[in-house]
Amino acid sequence: STFDELNLKEQILRAVFAYGYEFPSAIQSRAILPIVAGRDVLAQAQSGTGKTATFAISALQRLDEKLKAAQVLILAPTRELALQIKKVVLALGMHLNISVHACIGGVDPALDVKAFNSGVQIVVGTPGRVQDMIERGAFRTENVKMVILDEADEMLSTGFKEQIYTLFTLLPSTTQVVLLSATMPQEVLEVTTKFMNNPIRILV
Ligand code: AMP
Repeated sequence: STFDELNLKEQILRAVFAYGYEFPSAIQSRAILPIVAGRDVLAQAQSGTGKTATFAISALQRLDEKLKAAQVLILAPTRELALQIKKVVLALGMHLNISVHACIGGVDPALDVKAFNSGVQIVVGTPGRVQDMIERGAFRTENVKMVILDEADEMLSTGFKEQIYTLFTLLPSTTQVVLLSATMPQEVLEVTTKFMNNPIRILV
């Protein structure tokens, strides 16, 4: 398939081609349309498959640029990965007027609060700091329509299970869930059965 067939905003399409992508990878061909349609998606995908662009493009497509409130939450197991994801989202969103914030440990929490107050739309973070910001009332979740868990197996094996479970209780119950994981251990399957609604399963 082609990127033109994915019915993306023209600004996203331009950024995709500027980034050097000519054709969607397998996961992109299969996952972007259902994610954009609002379905819960469970993708078993390793690094190198184009998984980051899959959820970055989908999140950008679903975002309402005019609404200056947090609409998408992307969770990652490490600060480094969160920063890397933020870069990809910014690059693919370069022609859109959007605000992306990395909400990660090791950074002065006052800077997070400031960012949230200025109208962040896409939050890329690690579970602990994200939970902290929600509980302080800085990160208001009422407009969150989509949560993405990247490297879910890593996240759940590094002791974030309690935080992930707590985070789900702090998001609107209608929030769309997209989960990506290289492997599907018991802890990941548990999250899918507890928090996902009739997910589409994709194996690449
Ligand atoms: P990831 O699986 O997200 O770690 O991405 C692996 C690499 O593939 C990154 O360097 C991406 O920039 C690149 N990539 C993602 N999608 C495409 C695509 N459709 N065409 C070419 N390269 C891509």
